[in-house]
Amino acid sequence: MKRLLLLPALLLFALPALAVSPEDAQLDIACLREAYPGFILNVKNGSGGAILLETSTGETIVYDDGKAKTLKEELENADIEDSMRRPYPLEPNRPHLTPEQEPGRIRSMPLLKALYGHDKPAVLRNVTRMPLANESIQAHKRLQKALNALQAELKPLLAARPDLAKYCKSMGCQYWRVIAGTSRLSPHSFGIAIDMNPKIATYWQWSGMKRHPQQDSYPGEIVALFEKHGFIWGGKWPHYDIMHFEYRPELICKARRLRAAQQKPVLQKPLQRKPAPRKADFPAPHED
Ligand SMILES: [Zn+2]
Repeated sequence: MKRLLLLPALLLFALPALAVSPEDAQLDIACLREAYPGFILNVKNGSGGAILLETSTGETIVYDDGKAKTLKEELENADIEDSMRRPYPLEPNRPHLTPEQEPGRIRSMPLLKALYGHDKPAVLRNVTRMPLANESIQAHKRLQKALNALQAELKPLLAARPDLAKYCKSMGCQYWRVIAGTSRLSPHSFGIAIDMNPKIATYWQWSGMKRHPQQDSYPGEIVALFEKHGFIWGGKWPHYDIMHFEYRPELICKARRLRAAQQKPVLQKPLQRKPAPRKADFPAPHED
Protein backbone atom coordinates (compact mmCIF):
# COMPACT_ATOMS: atom_id res chain seq x y z
CA MET A 1 0.00 0.00 0.00
CA LYS A 2 2.82 2.32 0.93
CA ARG A 3 4.43 1.62 -2.42
CA LEU A 4 1.30 2.52 -4.29
CA LEU A 5 1.03 5.83 -2.51
CA LEU A 6 4.67 6.57 -3.11
CA LEU A 7 4.64 6.02 -6.85
CA PRO A 8 2.86 9.16 -8.05
CA ALA A 9 5.13 11.29 -5.90
CA LEU A 10 8.21 9.52 -7.23
CA LEU A 11 7.09 9.99 -10.79
CA LEU A 12 6.33 13.65 -10.45
CA PHE A 13 9.82 14.70 -9.55
CA ALA A 14 11.65 11.96 -11.39
CA LEU A 15 10.64 12.53 -14.95
CA PRO A 16 12.57 14.61 -17.48
CA ALA A 17 10.69 16.02 -20.47
CA LEU A 18 11.30 13.01 -22.71
CA ALA A 19 10.20 10.39 -20.24
CA VAL A 20 7.07 8.38 -19.95
CA SER A 21 3.99 10.11 -18.55
CA PRO A 22 3.03 9.23 -14.97
CA GLU A 23 -0.26 7.75 -16.24
CA ASP A 24 1.52 5.46 -18.70
CA ALA A 25 4.08 4.43 -16.10
CA GLN A 26 1.35 3.56 -13.65
CA LEU A 27 -0.59 1.60 -16.27
CA ASP A 28 2.53 -0.30 -17.36
CA ILE A 29 3.54 -1.15 -13.82
CA ALA A 30 -0.01 -2.18 -12.87
CA CYS A 31 -0.02 -4.52 -15.87
CA LEU A 32 3.40 -5.94 -14.99
CA ARG A 33 2.08 -6.67 -11.50
CA GLU A 34 -1.05 -8.30 -12.93
CA ALA A 35 0.90 -10.30 -15.51
CA TYR A 36 3.61 -11.53 -13.13
CA PRO A 37 2.08 -11.68 -9.65
CA GLY A 38 4.57 -11.17 -6.83
CA PHE A 39 7.43 -10.33 -9.20
CA ILE A 40 7.72 -6.59 -8.52
CA LEU A 41 8.49 -5.81 -4.90
CA ASN A 42 9.20 -2.11 -5.15
CA VAL A 43 9.37 0.84 -7.55
CA LYS A 44 12.09 3.42 -6.98
CA ASN A 45 14.01 6.26 -8.59
CA GLY A 46 17.38 5.77 -10.23
CA SER A 47 19.85 8.35 -11.46
CA GLY A 48 19.15 10.49 -14.51
CA GLY A 49 15.40 10.22 -14.14
CA ALA A 50 15.38 6.44 -14.32
CA ILE A 51 12.60 4.39 -12.74
CA LEU A 52 13.70 1.06 -11.35
CA LEU A 53 11.91 -2.09 -10.28
CA GLU A 54 13.09 -4.31 -7.46
CA THR A 55 12.07 -7.87 -8.21
CA SER A 56 11.40 -11.01 -6.22
CA THR A 57 14.53 -12.48 -7.84
CA GLY A 58 16.64 -9.98 -5.88
CA GLU A 59 17.43 -7.89 -8.96
CA THR A 60 16.91 -4.24 -9.76
CA ILE A 61 15.83 -3.79 -13.37
CA VAL A 62 15.16 -0.64 -15.33
CA TYR A 63 11.53 0.18 -16.10
CA ASP A 64 12.45 3.51 -17.73
CA ASP A 65 15.97 4.75 -18.34
CA GLY A 66 14.69 8.25 -19.18
CA LYS A 67 16.53 8.21 -22.51
CA ALA A 68 15.11 8.85 -25.97
CA LYS A 69 16.22 6.13 -28.38
CA THR A 70 16.04 5.39 -32.08
CA LEU A 71 14.12 2.29 -33.16
CA LYS A 72 17.42 0.48 -33.69
CA GLU A 73 18.59 1.43 -30.20
CA GLU A 74 15.29 0.24 -28.77
CA LEU A 75 15.58 -3.09 -30.55
CA GLU A 76 19.13 -3.52 -29.23
CA ASN A 77 18.76 -2.11 -25.74
CA ALA A 78 15.15 -1.62 -24.70
CA ASP A 79 13.99 -0.83 -21.23
CA ILE A 80 10.61 -2.15 -20.11
CA GLU A 81 8.87 1.10 -20.95
CA ASP A 82 10.15 0.90 -24.55
CA SER A 83 8.87 -2.68 -24.75
CA MET A 84 5.36 -1.66 -23.62
CA ARG A 85 4.89 1.69 -25.40
CA ARG A 86 3.35 0.47 -28.64
CA PRO A 87 -0.24 -0.63 -28.09
CA TYR A 88 -1.05 -4.17 -29.18
CA PRO A 89 -4.25 -4.43 -31.27
CA LEU A 90 -6.49 -7.15 -29.87
CA GLU A 91 -8.64 -9.28 -32.16
CA PRO A 92 -10.52 -8.68 -34.33
CA ASN A 93 -8.27 -5.69 -35.06
CA ARG A 94 -5.46 -6.25 -37.52
CA PRO A 95 -4.41 -2.74 -38.51
CA HIS A 96 -1.73 -2.09 -41.10
CA LEU A 97 1.07 -0.95 -38.82
CA THR A 98 4.42 0.57 -39.74
CA PRO A 99 7.69 -1.08 -38.68
CA GLU A 100 7.99 1.66 -36.04
CA GLN A 101 4.68 0.58 -34.49
CA GLU A 102 5.26 -3.14 -34.05
CA PRO A 103 4.02 -4.02 -30.57
CA GLY A 104 6.08 -6.70 -28.87
CA ARG A 105 9.04 -6.90 -31.25
CA ILE A 106 10.91 -4.68 -28.83
CA ARG A 107 11.80 -6.69 -25.74
CA SER A 108 13.54 -5.86 -22.48
CA MET A 109 16.23 -8.53 -22.11
CA PRO A 110 16.78 -7.75 -18.41
CA LEU A 111 13.04 -8.35 -17.81
CA LEU A 112 13.02 -11.62 -19.77
CA LYS A 113 16.19 -12.82 -18.03
CA ALA A 114 14.88 -11.93 -14.58
CA LEU A 115 11.60 -13.73 -15.29
CA TYR A 116 12.86 -16.80 -17.09
CA GLY A 117 16.61 -17.28 -16.51
CA HIS A 118 19.88 -15.53 -17.27
CA ASP A 119 21.47 -18.23 -19.38
CA LYS A 120 20.68 -21.46 -21.16
CA PRO A 121 21.22 -23.79 -18.16
CA ALA A 122 19.06 -21.55 -15.94
CA VAL A 123 16.24 -21.57 -18.49
CA LEU A 124 16.51 -25.30 -19.17
CA ARG A 125 16.17 -26.06 -15.46
CA ASN A 126 12.71 -24.48 -15.68
CA VAL A 127 11.49 -25.86 -18.97
CA THR A 128 9.01 -28.68 -18.99
CA ARG A 129 6.83 -30.52 -21.49
CA MET A 130 3.25 -29.32 -21.68
CA PRO A 131 0.34 -30.47 -23.83
CA LEU A 132 -0.86 -28.13 -26.55
CA ALA A 133 -3.51 -28.97 -29.14
CA ASN A 134 -2.89 -32.64 -29.96
CA GLU A 135 0.85 -32.38 -29.40
CA SER A 136 3.15 -31.17 -26.64
CA ILE A 137 5.80 -28.47 -26.40
CA GLN A 138 8.79 -27.68 -24.16
CA ALA A 139 7.88 -24.39 -22.48
CA HIS A 140 8.96 -22.43 -19.42
CA LYS A 141 7.19 -23.43 -16.19
CA ARG A 142 5.99 -19.86 -15.73
CA LEU A 143 3.63 -20.46 -18.67
CA GLN A 144 2.07 -23.57 -17.17
CA LYS A 145 -1.07 -21.91 -15.83
CA ALA A 146 -1.70 -19.90 -19.01
CA LEU A 147 -1.07 -22.90 -21.25
CA ASN A 148 -3.35 -25.14 -19.18
CA ALA A 149 -6.12 -22.58 -19.50
CA LEU A 150 -5.44 -22.17 -23.23
CA GLN A 151 -5.43 -25.93 -23.77
CA ALA A 152 -8.73 -26.30 -21.91
CA GLU A 153 -10.32 -24.15 -24.63
CA LEU A 154 -8.18 -25.11 -27.60
CA LYS A 155 -8.95 -28.84 -27.47
CA PRO A 156 -12.73 -28.38 -27.66
CA LEU A 157 -12.30 -25.71 -30.35
CA LEU A 158 -10.29 -28.13 -32.52
CA ALA A 159 -12.80 -30.91 -31.87
CA ALA A 160 -15.62 -28.66 -33.03
CA ARG A 161 -13.64 -27.15 -35.91
CA PRO A 162 -11.50 -29.85 -37.57
CA ASP A 163 -10.61 -27.31 -40.27
CA LEU A 164 -8.44 -25.49 -37.68
CA ALA A 165 -6.37 -28.54 -36.74
CA LYS A 166 -3.84 -28.01 -39.52
CA TYR A 167 -2.74 -24.73 -37.93
CA CYS A 168 -1.89 -26.45 -34.64
CA LYS A 169 0.68 -28.96 -35.83
CA SER A 170 4.49 -29.30 -35.83
CA MET A 171 4.72 -26.82 -32.99
CA GLY A 172 8.02 -25.65 -31.54
CA CYS A 173 8.68 -23.59 -28.43
CA GLN A 174 11.91 -23.54 -26.38
CA TYR A 175 15.07 -23.34 -28.45
CA TRP A 176 18.09 -21.34 -27.29
CA ARG A 177 19.08 -19.20 -30.28
CA VAL A 178 19.51 -15.67 -31.60
CA ILE A 179 16.97 -14.03 -33.91
CA ALA A 180 17.92 -14.75 -37.52
CA GLY A 181 20.21 -12.04 -38.90
CA THR A 182 20.80 -10.41 -35.47
CA SER A 183 22.79 -11.02 -32.31
CA ARG A 184 19.69 -10.65 -30.13
CA LEU A 185 18.34 -13.62 -28.19
CA SER A 186 15.06 -14.91 -29.55
CA PRO A 187 12.13 -15.19 -27.13
CA HIS A 188 12.20 -18.90 -28.04
CA SER A 189 15.37 -19.08 -25.97
CA PHE A 190 13.30 -18.51 -22.84
CA GLY A 191 10.56 -21.01 -23.72
CA ILE A 192 7.89 -18.30 -24.03
CA ALA A 193 7.26 -18.33 -27.80
CA ILE A 194 5.40 -20.97 -29.76
CA ASP A 195 5.72 -21.51 -33.49
CA MET A 196 2.66 -23.09 -35.05
CA ASN A 197 2.98 -25.20 -38.18
CA PRO A 198 5.75 -23.44 -40.14
CA LYS A 199 4.64 -25.38 -43.21
CA ILE A 200 1.58 -23.19 -43.63
CA ALA A 201 2.45 -20.11 -41.58
CA THR A 202 5.18 -18.00 -43.01
CA TYR A 203 7.78 -15.49 -41.91
CA TRP A 204 8.63 -12.16 -43.54
CA GLN A 205 12.21 -13.05 -44.41
CA TRP A 206 10.96 -15.98 -46.47
CA SER A 207 8.54 -14.03 -48.57
CA GLY A 208 9.33 -10.32 -48.37
CA MET A 209 7.78 -7.61 -46.22
CA LYS A 210 4.74 -6.87 -48.35
CA ARG A 211 1.61 -7.56 -46.31
CA HIS A 212 0.88 -11.27 -46.51
CA PRO A 213 -2.68 -12.54 -47.17
CA GLN A 214 -2.50 -14.69 -44.03
CA GLN A 215 -2.12 -11.56 -41.93
CA ASP A 216 -5.82 -11.08 -42.69
CA SER A 217 -6.97 -14.67 -43.26
CA TYR A 218 -5.30 -16.57 -40.38
CA PRO A 219 -8.12 -17.91 -38.20
CA GLY A 220 -9.25 -15.30 -35.70
CA GLU A 221 -10.53 -18.01 -33.36
CA ILE A 222 -6.96 -19.22 -32.78
CA VAL A 223 -5.45 -15.74 -32.46
CA ALA A 224 -8.20 -14.58 -30.06
CA LEU A 225 -7.75 -17.65 -27.88
CA PHE A 226 -4.00 -17.12 -27.59
CA GLU A 227 -4.54 -13.43 -26.83
CA LYS A 228 -7.08 -14.33 -24.16
CA HIS A 229 -4.38 -16.30 -22.37
CA GLY A 230 -1.60 -13.71 -22.60
CA PHE A 231 0.03 -14.31 -25.99
CA ILE A 232 0.61 -11.75 -28.73
CA TRP A 233 0.61 -12.84 -32.37
CA GLY A 234 3.49 -12.10 -34.76
CA GLY A 235 1.05 -11.91 -37.66
CA LYS A 236 0.22 -8.35 -36.61
CA TRP A 237 3.72 -7.07 -37.35
CA PRO A 238 4.87 -5.68 -40.72
CA HIS A 239 7.90 -7.94 -40.08
CA TYR A 240 5.25 -10.61 -39.95
CA ASP A 241 5.82 -13.98 -38.33
CA ILE A 242 2.52 -15.76 -38.87
CA MET A 243 3.46 -18.91 -36.95
CA HIS A 244 4.72 -17.02 -33.89
CA PHE A 245 2.79 -16.58 -30.64
CA GLU A 246 4.66 -15.06 -27.70
CA TYR A 247 3.72 -14.94 -24.03
CA ARG A 248 3.66 -11.21 -23.20
CA PRO A 249 0.79 -10.95 -20.73
CA GLU A 250 1.75 -7.39 -19.75
CA LEU A 251 1.03 -6.24 -23.33
CA ILE A 252 -2.30 -8.06 -23.40
CA CYS A 253 -3.22 -6.54 -20.04
CA LYS A 254 -2.39 -3.06 -21.33
CA ALA A 255 -4.33 -3.63 -24.55
CA ARG A 256 -7.39 -4.75 -22.58
CA ARG A 257 -7.27 -1.80 -20.22
CA LEU A 258 -6.84 0.69 -23.08
CA ARG A 259 -9.73 -0.91 -24.96
CA ALA A 260 -11.93 -0.80 -21.86
CA ALA A 261 -11.07 2.88 -21.33
CA GLN A 262 -11.99 3.63 -24.96
CA GLN A 263 -15.27 1.76 -24.75
CA LYS A 264 -16.35 3.31 -21.48
CA PRO A 265 -19.12 5.74 -22.33
CA VAL A 266 -18.23 9.28 -21.45
CA LEU A 267 -20.16 9.98 -18.33
CA GLN A 268 -22.45 12.81 -19.15
CA LYS A 269 -23.71 15.05 -16.49
CA PRO A 270 -27.47 15.10 -16.62
CA LEU A 271 -28.61 18.41 -17.97
CA GLN A 272 -29.13 20.69 -15.07
CA ARG A 273 -32.46 22.18 -15.91
CA LYS A 274 -33.27 25.11 -13.79
CA PRO A 275 -36.72 24.73 -12.38
CA ALA A 276 -39.12 27.14 -13.96
CA PRO A 277 -39.08 30.21 -11.79
CA ARG A 278 -42.05 30.72 -9.65
CA LYS A 279 -43.72 34.06 -9.93
CA ALA A 280 -42.15 35.24 -6.73
CA ASP A 281 -38.65 34.53 -8.11
CA PHE A 282 -38.86 37.03 -10.94
CA PRO A 283 -36.79 40.02 -10.24
CA ALA A 284 -38.77 42.99 -9.43
CA PRO A 285 -39.49 44.92 -12.59
CA HIS A 286 -37.33 47.91 -13.02
CA GLU A 287 -37.10 50.74 -15.52
CA ASP A 288 -34.23 50.60 -18.05
ZN1 LIG B 1 8.68 -17.91 -33.32
